[in-house]
Amino acid sequence: MAASRLLKAALLVGRTSLRQHTVATRVPLVAVRATCCRGFQTSAIQREQHLQGYKDSDRHHGKYPARTHYCGQLRASDNGQHVVLSGWAQSPRAMSQDLIFLPIRDSTGVTQLVYRSENCPAHLKAQIQNLSAESVICVEGIVHRRPEGMANQKQTTGEIEVEITNIYCLNPSSPSLPFLPTQPQLPNEEIRLRYRYLDLRRDELQKNIRLRSVTANTVRQYLIGHGFTEIETPTLFKSTPEGAREFIVPTRKRGAFYALPQSPQQHKQMLMAAGFDRYFQIARCFRDEDLRADRQPEFTQIDLEMSFITVDDIQRIIEGMITAIWDKALGMKLNSSMFPHMTYHDAMSKYGSDKPDVRFDMQINQIESYVSDVAGQDSIDCMVVKKGSSLTGGDLKNTQKAFDLVDSKEFAFAKINENNIHQWLRKCGFLRHSQHIDSVQSKLNSKLNIEQGDLVLVNKRPNYLYGGNTLMGRLRLHFANTMQEKGLLQLDPNAFKFLWVESFPLFTPDEQGIRTWQSTHHPFTAPFDEDIPLLATDPAKVRGQHYDLVLNGMEIGGGSIRIHSPVMQSFIFDKVLQLEKYEYQRFDHLIDALGGGCPPHGGIALGFDRLMAILCNVASIRDVIAFPKAAGGKDFVVNSPSEVTAAQLKEYGLRLTEE
Ligand code: ASP
Repeated sequence: MAASRLLKAALLVGRTSLRQHTVATRVPLVAVRATCCRGFQTSAIQREQHLQGYKDSDRHHGKYPARTHYCGQLRASDNGQHVVLSGWAQSPRAMSQDLIFLPIRDSTGVTQLVYRSENCPAHLKAQIQNLSAESVICVEGIVHRRPEGMANQKQTTGEIEVEITNIYCLNPSSPSLPFLPTQPQLPNEEIRLRYRYLDLRRDELQKNIRLRSVTANTVRQYLIGHGFTEIETPTLFKSTPEGAREFIVPTRKRGAFYALPQSPQQHKQMLMAAGFDRYFQIARCFRDEDLRADRQPEFTQIDLEMSFITVDDIQRIIEGMITAIWDKALGMKLNSSMFPHMTYHDAMSKYGSDKPDVRFDMQINQIESYVSDVAGQDSIDCMVVKKGSSLTGGDLKNTQKAFDLVDSKEFAFAKINENNIHQWLRKCGFLRHSQHIDSVQSKLNSKLNIEQGDLVLVNKRPNYLYGGNTLMGRLRLHFANTMQEKGLLQLDPNAFKFLWVESFPLFTPDEQGIRTWQSTHHPFTAPFDEDIPLLATDPAKVRGQHYDLVLNGMEIGGGSIRIHSPVMQSFIFDKVLQLEKYEYQRFDHLIDALGGGCPPHGGIALGFDRLMAILCNVASIRDVIAFPKAAGGKDFVVNSPSEVTAAQLKEYGLRLTEE
């Protein structure tokens, strides 16, 4: 009943949209517009046809011959064969009344079909001319080797063409598609996301999505070969204050909600308690974060967990898996020397980032010991941008503005030239007050290899390092980009610089300032054994057994050895993180599992979308996800999130309030 009412409503809106220029209507304009925007002409035509009675004569119904080859398969050696191809028609090209070319495409390539009046049945000509691009056809024909010199070197099937004997138009395409996947100039991303099925027909996206499948398969084979068991964990989970904001799922039981998992973290730990020893899953995770560039509210992780292991064991497994993936996807051989290690402290002080891009040097030095009288308890970061003097005054002013440094008393810079190379410290804001500058100037020049033509930046910052980056770290990335744009810094486009970053502080000052501490990774990460006594006395100094895998300045994964003691886990929830009782009670299932005979364990998760973007060499993870969300979490294909009816809201006991 409900469905037929909906259909009637849709038909009404459709009819109105066709007539809206001439007929006054009571259907609200908004509804009409919304319908018009979402469909292209096909829907309107079909609705009209429906109103006038069934008419679908352009379409072949019933049986059609079975495909003998894919469109990228035929070669000169197939000459003379009778073949059947199926795929998408591209626009026909009529060379004369008697000669028409019709390319047919599928995911493997393109074959040139040809109509020659002297050999082909006459009725085919009109049929071909009426075919709109992207119509789905099945074609019978005879393979002909192309004459000498006529081969198309750019196509794998370029040596042959197929002379058509029969065409079945299985599904004609609308002549008014919003764009063609083969057109050189593509429309903007919103249009492409809305008609994703058209965009996905493009070669590039086909390759990316297929490589994703090959990579997932490589991961599975590798992990199963190393004794892992693939186990699915629930999607309808429970709200637990684990870190990120969750998606809440209402149920028909008043006041009772599920939450979607931010990751399978708690379940995988319970699987260790359950004796599975080595678990993995290519898992969908959900985080309701304000979408930063290139984040998705739902994303995929290669998630694993192991019992009775060390950090080293986990890192070896991951290095082996990455090596297998690189081999399969890129044909590149990696080895374990390509996975160096760095502490969080070194990463933050030398590169100003917990995920350093080590494809270029530009290291940050601490120079406070040279000018201790102006440094006090603080650190002074100093970075030399080689050849940075060639940046214009405008470049540097813009940088200062962008980083909010125009009036900073802590930050200074100097372009080094022959006049100031022996006294640039005098030009550097707060440093000029140091008594020591004359005596340390030349020591600094030789230690930091400062030369004429360089740009030197200094910044005073608190000695205590926490969070993901420092100002100098952000400037390092900024200047690396600027210098690249100006051709003064070259990065090898094929370089893959992996790095394990380790020894993170277990706790970080709470961003929201509600509590003292928040977990740097997540609350289940174990402290260094030797730091356990500091949990109660000096949490700032406790290091976590946490490791991130970084590639070219991007975090591609992170994990840790977990807390397996229910006493320690409860202490951290209660005393360090200061969760309210009702909050940490939400983790009772985990505390119980730890106390019920749970082995020591640890694990890691790699971001599968980011990994694929790197393997496919694309900037956006949207290019490696079949149906990604756009900015703001919007799904343009199905137009969601979308409203639900008042009746649905009532069923769930929900009421919408004014903003
Ligand atoms: N569950 C963690 C995350 O999503 C990864 C891990 O610690 O295994 O970041």
